[in-house]
Amino acid sequence: MRESSIRCGAYTLPVFSLNTVVVGTGAAGYNAAERLHRGGQPDVAIVTEHILAGTSRNTGSDKQTYYKLTLSGGEADSVREMAETLFSGQCVDGDIALCEAALSAQCFLRLAELGVPFPRNRYGEYVGYKTDHDPRRRATSVGPYTSRRMTECLEAAAQKRGIRVFDKMQAVMVLGDGGRVYGLLCLDLTRAQETADAFTLFVCTNIIYATGGPAGMYANSVYPNGHFGATGIALEAGVMGRNLTEWQFGLASLHPRWNVSGTYMQALPHVYSTDAAGGDERSFLCDFFADRGEMLTKMFLKGYQWPFDVRKAAGGSSLIDLLVVQESAKGRRVFLDYRRNPCAGEVNFESLAPEAHAYLQNAGACFGLPIDRLLHMNKPAVDFYRDKGVDLAAQPLEVALCAQHNNGGLAVDCWWQTNLQGFFAVGEVAASHGVYRPGGSALNAGQVGGARAAQFIAARGAGDPPAPEALPQAVRARLDAFVQGAASLVGERDNTRAAWHEATRRMSRVGGAIRSEAGIAEGLNATRAALAAFWRDIRVDSPARLGEALRLRDTLLSQETYLAAMADYLAQGGKSRGSALYTDPMGCKPHETLPDLYAFTVDDGVRGGLTQEVTRHGENITVTWRPVRPIPVDDDFFENVWRAYRENGNVY
Ligand SMILES: Cc1cc2nc3c(=O)[nH]c(=O)nc-3n(C[C@H](O)[C@H](O)[C@H](O)COP(=O)(O)OP(=O)(O)OC[C@H]3O[C@@H](n4cnc5c(N)ncnc54)[C@H](O)[C@@H]3O)c2cc1C
Repeated sequence: MRESSIRCGAYTLPVFSLNTVVVGTGAAGYNAAERLHRGGQPDVAIVTEHILAGTSRNTGSDKQTYYKLTLSGGEADSVREMAETLFSGQCVDGDIALCEAALSAQCFLRLAELGVPFPRNRYGEYVGYKTDHDPRRRATSVGPYTSRRMTECLEAAAQKRGIRVFDKMQAVMVLGDGGRVYGLLCLDLTRAQETADAFTLFVCTNIIYATGGPAGMYANSVYPNGHFGATGIALEAGVMGRNLTEWQFGLASLHPRWNVSGTYMQALPHVYSTDAAGGDERSFLCDFFADRGEMLTKMFLKGYQWPFDVRKAAGGSSLIDLLVVQESAKGRRVFLDYRRNPCAGEVNFESLAPEAHAYLQNAGACFGLPIDRLLHMNKPAVDFYRDKGVDLAAQPLEVALCAQHNNGGLAVDCWWQTNLQGFFAVGEVAASHGVYRPGGSALNAGQVGGARAAQFIAARGAGDPPAPEALPQAVRARLDAFVQGAASLVGERDNTRAAWHEATRRMSRVGGAIRSEAGIAEGLNATRAALAAFWRDIRVDSPARLGEALRLRDTLLSQETYLAAMADYLAQGGKSRGSALYTDPMGCKPHETLPDLYAFTVDDGVRGGLTQEVTRHGENITVTWRPVRPIPVDDDFFENVWRAYRENGNVY
């Protein structure tokens, strides 16, 4: 790594030049950096806006899942079969599915070797369980904080290699010419008291972008506080987006942000809403369901059918999600109350469907109040909230339908390289999933993506970047204009926070789980207008707040691109699928008392073999569709593969 400086208009920026910059200190970023260093490329550094931020380190769930090839028992499993499971999630490229299956055992075992305590039986088998969309028992877990343990172990491994981490560096611009990447402009949050000191430039041959999901787009979010993502600036640089319409939404508490899956719902809490001030309490679920047993059964099922799924919206458990959304849309707040039984009565456990009744009976939980049942079935679930300052025995829990995971993202090839040469995307920022994915496959994809990108860069991405003064003219011009534009955001007033709230609430309203043609169009127009007026209208009252303004810009860029993808999906005749209900006037309502907004038709899977790709060219957005790449059928005759491997090159 070499240090120099560059003149940008009125400012002199420090410059770090190196082979590869990894952006992000989540499980994906640390893994990629460590593997690249181990693979023979020592000229690598990590840049992160906050070393302790991100989803991997700060989130979890009842039993946070890691998905891998079966490594125990007598049931048959194979790389091909796992690839087929991933591929069957729809809109998934087969070569990516194959890589994720092929490297899953290697990546998993590496984590185990690094100290992630994945459970084993006395003979050393990593025994698994069945997760959602999983035909086998490929899932495993170390408890609620699997991704945190992964991150800590990977961080220790990266530290051992002495990989430098630039903390408090917020990436604000990706430098590229549409064909290849040249570097990254960052806001140095430790020096941003003066505009003149605020910026630092990284010039590099490769970037491994591991910035996580674009969580900042939504107001209703179960991503951890302080995680926003940075997909917008990559899209701005011309990196293609893929499957952007595909998200996962589910019921989550707002303070703290946490999925209320599993026993939180199986304990059957009372659900009610209030007005914004906390008055006018209504038991909206009790009012809706004439049959109390049906209501209790759906609530119970929500426990392990956690994500909102349109296929379960009409007669199934996702009707609960819809009723919560409808209540929130009226400006009301929704709460789970573990101090009261549903509908202020005794629970008639016999009225539950046999599956739910049997479960609670087997668990010995057919008694008392929801808090008693929750404590009995899963005391750590109560302790979790108590540790965060919420006593479920004494207070209700506010919930909403929240964005949890982006299945789509930046389009990658089977080396996790994007269309911008030298720019790799790994972890949740990358689009390796489609409509459905097995629980736990996100964490596997992040590890595999990093391993592939590192292998490719070590073999094919060597070399120094150009000298800062030799950057292409067009790239220099964009850099100068950006720095001057950013500096001019500092003024007397500060309207960034208000603009942020407006943008993120709008996105939750029109681009969340419920999407209509009119809502998307309105959201797209408003976002486009906000983006067009950004440099003119947005101001911060001190350079220290520039980061928030530029994050708003990144978010608006993402929102515009994602909404354009949703608008196109509808224009192509796309129907409701995954976690997105698209209003269809010709469709059916889940219940006659619900508004027309909820009339929908479930997609019949005709687009499952296609993938939607979205590219920004300045202010224009192009959307195209193509058939997914099939799962490759390679020549697996050993001697042939061995020769190709020996001759090193034929695999790239
Ligand atoms: C509640 C919840 C439960 C989940 N449960 C599961 C599960 O059971 N199984 C599963 O497989 N997945 C699960 N996921 C998803 C999974 O946790 C994430 O997809 C994964 O942790 C993302 O890892 P990552 O390394 O890609 O990104 P992150 O861990 O989010 O890291 C992103 C990094 O990028 C940095 N960064 C972001 N923007 C910038 C910027 N502008 N400049 C510099 N740095 C930046 C951040 O500081 C951070 O270090 C869950 C997610 C949530 C929210």
